[in-house]
Amino acid sequence: MAFSFSTRLTDLKKAENTVWDIIVIGGGITGAGILLDAQSRGLNAVLVEKEDFAWGTSSRSTKLIHGGLRYLKQMDIRLVREVGKERAIVHKNARNLVCPERMLLPIYSDGSLGWGLTSLGLKIYDWLAGVPKDEQRKMLSAEKTLFHEPLLKKDNLTGGGLYYEYRTDDARLTISVIKTACQQGAVALNHAEVKEFTYNDEGIIDGVKLTDHIHATDHTLRSKVVINAAGPWVDNVRSFQKNTSNSHLFLTKGIHIVVDREKLPLKQSAYFDAVDQRMMFAIPRGNIVYIGTTDTPYNDDVNQPYPTQKDVDYILQSTLRIFPDYPIETKDIQSTWSGLRPLIQQKGKGPSELSRRDEIFESKDGLLSIAGGKLTGYRKMAERIVNRAQRVIGHRLACQTKNLVLYGQDFDSTKDVRHLCDSVNTIIKGPSFLGERLVHLYGHFAMEIAERAQEQATNESEISLAALLQAELEYTIEHERVCSLSDFIIQRSGMLYFNRAWIDKHQELLKNTMAIHTQEIPTPFNDAQEALLEKAYQSVLAFR
Ligand code: FAD
Repeated sequence: MAFSFSTRLTDLKKAENTVWDIIVIGGGITGAGILLDAQSRGLNAVLVEKEDFAWGTSSRSTKLIHGGLRYLKQMDIRLVREVGKERAIVHKNARNLVCPERMLLPIYSDGSLGWGLTSLGLKIYDWLAGVPKDEQRKMLSAEKTLFHEPLLKKDNLTGGGLYYEYRTDDARLTISVIKTACQQGAVALNHAEVKEFTYNDEGIIDGVKLTDHIHATDHTLRSKVVINAAGPWVDNVRSFQKNTSNSHLFLTKGIHIVVDREKLPLKQSAYFDAVDQRMMFAIPRGNIVYIGTTDTPYNDDVNQPYPTQKDVDYILQSTLRIFPDYPIETKDIQSTWSGLRPLIQQKGKGPSELSRRDEIFESKDGLLSIAGGKLTGYRKMAERIVNRAQRVIGHRLACQTKNLVLYGQDFDSTKDVRHLCDSVNTIIKGPSFLGERLVHLYGHFAMEIAERAQEQATNESEISLAALLQAELEYTIEHERVCSLSDFIIQRSGMLYFNRAWIDKHQELLKNTMAIHTQEIPTPFNDAQEALLEKAYQSVLAFR
């Protein structure tokens, strides 16, 4: 499949010379899901994203495919049922990327939930969400709770509940969905920003005008339907309409911090009371632990939602309260990310009370906008809005995504995923987490990356980290439309968050590799590479 940096210009020309059934604005998980749903039904769809794919909220979440436990607290039974079912489908269609993660919920006599209520709540949740038997909740004594996580505060601990969330990598899920759509004939362009709508004689939107930031050129794309899936920018995109009505969104900011696992050597993931009435996650991932999140109203620049020291202090204090023997300080933070929740406005409700449901808005000029929702429900959101779009297009094609395994992620079982990890590690001959990381993120394409690194290696012994990084970068330029090092270290590989030391050490190699591949097509964008990289680094430590 040609989804590389070098085939981007051909795709841009194709986008311009085609009348599409659907243009999707926004390359987050919502837009990605819509692209795949539409294309796999047999419609003709193109997606345009102003930055890189998953650059918005879809690379800045807690990275969990939820079963909907928090909706039970809000008594939203329908939503618990729906996300429970969706979680199973999303797992089945990408077993390497959406994996069960055991979560420990400690219970304290002075905490927000008692033992009995937690036990009952988790039981109802298992039933409503259709949780498989081996993942159903287990209630633990205080002693057993400490066995599972010895770092927990012991005072007032009365027990704990074990249940399962599914961990993922949000940006990788997004790019995998986009790649699957492109494999079926869709076109997806990153760094292409919609600036205006075009209208037919009846005043109905029939296309978009965009600026391609790679070549600094303007283009017009035509379609039967335009879908605005711009997440926190949904209202901004609606402002391009001739007649814009009220805003629909209420944005809240959520931040996460990343620390070295040596600073907080957790045995397993935990879901615990923050210093207020909210709950927080601490999730180990390789050599780091990430902790979050916050939920505060946001009215500042949508393009630069940075954490404040106050946000960071809230997380540090909440963490210290539950893991008192391992105080983390601001200086221990390796990186952070902050995302904006595109929630639907509801009068009189506070940030954490607002529903996480999605909603579709249809304007008189034909624009369909979708906002709200979660990573977890992306497939169902896409199904709903493409159903709506088909009414305009005049088709009644059925949704195909329920059993559509994502490209390169076809595994019959978790055991199959482990087999691939073993095979990849046999080639790498290094620490086993290297192969596991590649398989988790790239599925079967992990083998291609390992073999590419092997070709570059000079002898039979362990493949060097440098060779692996170079191979991974080359793969993403050639097969995942990486256009800058910033695209690679954040959205494609997550290294700036989770493996900072690797890129700090091998930055020159990565820069050179990037330059060699992009120099074949000289563009004004290439001159901005250094500035983009600088911006990426700044963004992860902006609160300091
Ligand atoms: P985005 O990912 O923001 O995508 C919109 C895209 O549109 C952006 O990339 C943007 O650049 C692009 N765009 C904007 N304007 C234009 C334009 N003019 N032209 C072209 N492109 C444009 N959900 C879960 O299920 N599990 C979780 O664990 C979870 N944790 C979360 C934690 C936090 C802190 C937050 C904030 C959210 C969390 N969510 C979670 C929710 C989930 O992340 C979001 O619902 C989801 O990522 C939103 O995706 P989206 O595609 O709608 O928006």
